[in-house]
Amino acid sequence: MSDRPVNDRPAGGRSVLVTGGNRGIGLAVARDLAARGDRVAVTFRTGEPPPGLYGVACDITDPAAVENAFDTVRKEQGEVEILVANAGITRDALLLRMGDDLVDEVIDTNLRAAIRLAKHAARGMLAERWGRLVLISSSAAFTGSPGQVNYAAAKAGLVGLARSLAWELGPRGITVNVVSPGLVETDMTSGLRPERRAEYLSRTPLGRPGTPEEVASAVRFLTGDGAAYITGAVLPVSGGLGMGL
Ligand code: NDP
Repeated sequence: MSDRPVNDRPAGGRSVLVTGGNRGIGLAVARDLAARGDRVAVTFRTGEPPPGLYGVACDITDPAAVENAFDTVRKEQGEVEILVANAGITRDALLLRMGDDLVDEVIDTNLRAAIRLAKHAARGMLAERWGRLVLISSSAAFTGSPGQVNYAAAKAGLVGLARSLAWELGPRGITVNVVSPGLVETDMTSGLRPERRAEYLSRTPLGRPGTPEEVASAVRFLTGDGAAYITGAVLPVSGGLGMGL
């Protein structure tokens, strides 16, 4: 019997899809995996795809666009073997001022679309009997966050999604894990009020924001050989923000 784990598939040459891979954390993840030799496609909604990466125009809240994206990626680089469900939005407001539109938009993008993406990816992975799903959640899912009832609820939902799917897909050699970033320097956080930013950092033992590349490093680990026996896990990349939760 081989010493190699049955679901081992070395980095390099794998077919990857990263949603929201045109900027921020998603772009760092996509570049990192591409630099290791994987075939990486990214979704983008507007503008141009990032240079050097295969771009698929896709609004993840549109079921037909998602189906088309998987078809396109399959034809271009083969069945998706690694899905990084990264695309996400915030629409902050205190609950009593949060209209249904803000709830719907955030739940549709951050949770409903992730379920849809996972379903498409799982189909191909089941056939291949190998796959890695990584869902990008947030520390807010565990600490709670005032003004972010919609966002924290959606991001917490990703944990239930990952752990349920880990049970469903584990017997076929497919792992499903969550990465939970704290405060990371991207467009999403560039507009934070200084006092809010200071408040986040006061709860961050490492005392600084993270970089997209530091999140990419965790995704690289979870999609690599060394993580073959890890599923249903939540890996915080948060400088300690929310540790232990
Ligand atoms: P950015 O705002 O920089 O990027 C968000 C990405 O998501 C963009 O590529 C955007 O595409 C894409 N996106 C949003 N909505 C859709 C949609 N409907 N269809 C397709 N793509 C969409 O955010 P970050 O890079 O900071 O965040 C990436 C992930 O990390 C998110 O899920 C976020 O919640 C999570 N996160 C971020 C933290 C941070 O501090 N930055 C902390 C914790 C979690 P487009 O360019 O077309 O708008």
